[in-house]
Amino acid sequence: MLNIGVLALQGAFIEHVHMLRRAGAVAVEVRLPEELQGLDGLIIPGGESTTIGKLAVSAGLVAPLREFAGSRPTWGTCAGMIFLARELDHHAQPILGLMDIRVDRNAFGRQLDSFEMELQIPVLGDAPWHAIFIRAPVVTGAGDDVEVLARLADGRIVAVRQGHLLATAFHPELTDDLRFHTWFLQLAQQAG
Ligand code: GLN
Repeated sequence: MLNIGVLALQGAFIEHVHMLRRAGAVAVEVRLPEELQGLDGLIIPGGESTTIGKLAVSAGLVAPLREFAGSRPTWGTCAGMIFLARELDHHAQPILGLMDIRVDRNAFGRQLDSFEMELQIPVLGDAPWHAIFIRAPVVTGAGDDVEVLARLADGRIVAVRQGHLLATAFHPELTDDLRFHTWFLQLAQQAG
């Protein structure tokens, strides 16, 4: 069985823990650097990226997270996507800076705080994906190594992969659909 960590400083981490267990992995809550030891992969959940960043700094987790996610399968959802990004539009805050993407936080503004829609995500098969966006970011720029996994109808990028790194602007852990977590576990299996 794969051991997958979920960064548990703030936000929607318990939902990822439940999804990972349903998908057949051992899920480990990570709050301290030593809890990264022996993990096959890591999920950075949604929440508030400024809070997650501050708490990661005070827990001494920034360098250990950079080292872990520098080579091991790591998936950021929403605030987690922001935390993985190389650069942010309009904001200065602690980020890991690992993924070759630019991200615009709260890209949908106040008018469209939260919304749900069906997306086509070819790596997950033909069935549409029910995507839940909550004060979501979008990817506004991506390097050549970055594979776009999903776009909105207007072309804006909302899911990306760069080798062992994955980022989604929406919240798969708030659905009943295990396909995204199962796919992440397959990536972790292949990497191991
Ligand atoms: N708006 C949040 C941020 O900027 C992210 C929201 C989320 O993770 N659902 O960090």
